[in-house]
Amino acid sequence: MNDKAYNPFETAQNQFDNAADLLDLDTETRDLLRNPIREYSFIIPVRMDDGRKKVFRGFRVQHNDARGPAKGGIRFHPQETIDTVRALAMWMTWKTAVIGLPLGGGKGGVICDPHNLSTNEQEQLCRGWVQQIVKNIGPYTDVPAPDIMTSAQHMLWMLDEYEKIVGERQPGFITGKPVGMGGSLGRKEATGYGVMIAVREALKELSINIENTRASLQGFGNVSQNAIELYLQMGGTVTCVSCWDQDDSKSYAFYKKDGIDLKELQAITDPFGGINKSKAKELKYDLLPGESWLEQDVDILVPAALENQITTENVKQISKQVRIIAEGANGPTTPAADKLIKDRNIFIIPDLLANAGGVTCSYFEQVQSNMNYFWEKDEVLSKLDLKMTSAFIDVSDFAKKNKLNMRDATYVISVDRVAQACRDRGWV
Ligand code: NAD
Repeated sequence: MNDKAYNPFETAQNQFDNAADLLDLDTETRDLLRNPIREYSFIIPVRMDDGRKKVFRGFRVQHNDARGPAKGGIRFHPQETIDTVRALAMWMTWKTAVIGLPLGGGKGGVICDPHNLSTNEQEQLCRGWVQQIVKNIGPYTDVPAPDIMTSAQHMLWMLDEYEKIVGERQPGFITGKPVGMGGSLGRKEATGYGVMIAVREALKELSINIENTRASLQGFGNVSQNAIELYLQMGGTVTCVSCWDQDDSKSYAFYKKDGIDLKELQAITDPFGGINKSKAKELKYDLLPGESWLEQDVDILVPAALENQITTENVKQISKQVRIIAEGANGPTTPAADKLIKDRNIFIIPDLLANAGGVTCSYFEQVQSNMNYFWEKDEVLSKLDLKMTSAFIDVSDFAKKNKLNMRDATYVISVDRVAQACRDRGWV
C-alpha cells in the first residue's frame, strides 16, 4: 500500500470506520458519528485599509457535542478547506473523549493569508468571524481557541466582540488568551510536557530507565522545546533535533553525540522554531540533512513538526534501537507507514493521546475563566500530569486486555465514549 494523496477528512473517516468495525457499531451510530452534527459556512466582509470591501469565507464545524460543549481551534490559512476543518473537528471529538474531558469536538477557519493583512484588517476579520457565528457558539455551546496562524491577540479581539454583542464579561467563551487576560499559566508548556508524561509512562511499561534513554525530535518549536525541557529534567538525553530553514527552504537536523543543551539552542532559535545554522556550528553541533532526525540510533522518536512525515518511503530508515514513537504533531505517520510500524517492536503513542496536553490545558483555562479564579502554574501542571497519566493508563490497559495497539485502543475508547453519550441522550 502506498501513501495516497492526502484528504484529511477521508483519512479521519477511514480511521473512524476502523474503530466502528472493532466496536461493531450499529448503522445509525455510524451515520451519526461519521459526519459533523453541524457545519456553518459564511462570508465575512472586511473593510480593507485602502477603503475597498473584501469578502472572506469562514467556517465552523461542530463534529459532536454529546459529551459537552464543542472545543477546537480556528485556523487562518490560504488553503483552508471545509474537509480540513471537518477532519480536525472529528479528531477533537476523539481527543477530548480519550482524555475524559467533558467536551466535544469542533474546529473553525477562515480562508486568508494573515501575512498579507494589516493588523487592523486582521482585527476586522476576527470581529467579523464572531459576528457571523455568535448565535451558534458560546462558553456552554462551542469554545474556540488558536490554531495555525491565529494568536492570543486574535482570541482577545474575538472575545471582545463576543462580549460586546452579549453585553457581559464571558472569558470562558474562548481559550488561548494572554495570561492576565483570562489565559492559563502552563498552557505554553502543556502540549510538550504532555508528550513526555506519556513517554514516561510508556517507558515504565517497557521497564526502561529513562536515564538510559536517548531521543531525537523533529521540529524545535513550542511542542518540541517543552517536550525536551521535561525529558531532560527526567534524566533523558536528546541527541538530535531538526527544524525548517527559511533561508535555504529546506530542513536541517542538529546533532550532538553527548546531548544537546536546550538553553544554548533556544538562545540561537527564532520565534518560529528556526535554529541559526552558523551559530549552531560554532557551538559544535553537526549539521545533518533534515531527514536524519528519523535515522538516529535512539530509543525515542518524537515527530513534533508537521503531518505526513513518517511515510512508506522513510519508515525503513528507523533504527532497530527505537522503542517508542510519541506523536507530538497531528497525523505525522501516514496510514501506510503505520501498518509497517505495527510489524516492528515499536510502541506508538498516537497523536490523539500524545499531544492532548494542549486541549487539556485549554479546558483548564475554560474552567478557570468561567470561575474567574486562576490557579498557580504548579497546580495547572500537576492537574495536567494527572489527566495525561490516567488517560495513558486507560488506553494501555485496554490495549493489553483487547490485544490492540495503542492507536487502535485510543480510537476504540474514544469512539465508544462518544457513542455511549449519544445513546444515553437518546440520539440513536
Ligand atoms: P511551531 O510552529 O512552534 O514549531 C514547528 C517546528 O517545526 C519549528 O521548529 C519548525 O522549524 C519545524 N518544522 C517545520 N517544517 C519542518 C520540516 N519540514 N522539517 C523539520 N522541522 C520542520 O509549532 P508547534 O506548536 O510546536 O506544533 C508542532 C506540531 O504539533 C503541529 O503539528 C501542531 O499541529 C501540533 N500540535 C501543537 C499543539 C500546541 O499546543 N502547540 C497542540 C497539539 C498539536
